[in-house]
Amino acid sequence: MLGYKISKLAKQWGFKLLSDIAYGRLDGYLVSFREDIGCKEMAVALSFKDEEGFEQAKGFLSTPYNMETYGIMSSSGFKRLLIIKFLDTEDFTLRIERFRKIFFAYIEGKVYKNHCYVCDEELGEDEADIRLIDNIAYQVHASCVDKLEQMIAQHDKSYMKDRTVKKGIGGAVAGAALGSLPWMLSQIAATFVVGFLGFVIGYAAKKGYEKTGGTSGGKKTLILALISSGFAAVTQLIGWLIAFAVNRTAFRANPFTVFVRVFTTPDFLHEYVGTLLLCVWAIILGCSNFWHINRRSHQEPTEIRRG
Ligand SMILES: [Zn+2]
Repeated sequence: MLGYKISKLAKQWGFKLLSDIAYGRLDGYLVSFREDIGCKEMAVALSFKDEEGFEQAKGFLSTPYNMETYGIMSSSGFKRLLIIKFLDTEDFTLRIERFRKIFFAYIEGKVYKNHCYVCDEELGEDEADIRLIDNIAYQVHASCVDKLEQMIAQHDKSYMKDRTVKKGIGGAVAGAALGSLPWMLSQIAATFVVGFLGFVIGYAAKKGYEKTGGTSGGKKTLILALISSGFAAVTQLIGWLIAFAVNRTAFRANPFTVFVRVFTTPDFLHEYVGTLLLCVWAIILGCSNFWHINRRSHQEPTEIRRG
């Protein structure tokens, strides 16, 4: 869903408004806006004339002064696309207006505003066909659309090739095991709530899963959450056992009776489950797809809709 700040700007600029993207021409550039967690994302489809211009634009976007002035959180892209993330502050609307004036003036002459995304040739007046790829608007020749669709099919095929859930599970287990270490240590040393460390477990499991060739899709998050939660539950218990063993005099307990106590004393059980639930919540955040600081590279289109 687009928030009111983007919706308002989009109306003001005469952009096309869909549920999760607003796009249109801004000072001649084809620009898309989307929401992301804690930030607003602006994507500019263009074509840099040379590497130097592109490097200069990257430089502009990453100077501490400009990042501070315009609230830029990060920027990425390649010669035909710039993605700029802005902090979602109260004055976002003002910042973006100032930014586009200065930035578009800065890159003027370094770029073509009106080149086809596929063949990088100039588009005539009514040749431009706007396509949404990965939720960003691009302009292509009507005659280049087929080629674009082939590129996408090819990319999907090579991405999914040889990927299976089974392959990913090994990586997820290794990732979750490694990611559980901070969680376990926190159970040994904790005097405060550390459930958010579950994020590390979920994130590590996800990285492991992807690196070893797990498929993406609906089952992925569920599998990752189950594996990570299992590790969290076990390592939390191990952490407690170690803590009790170290502090034996304080608790006057044999470490091995702790296991029995955890599952027979309501107070213990309550704390154990409470902390674990917090951890599981953080795990789900860590392994789900809506968390992306730096999304995958957009050089290879993966999904297309008609604009
Ligand atoms: Zn073309």
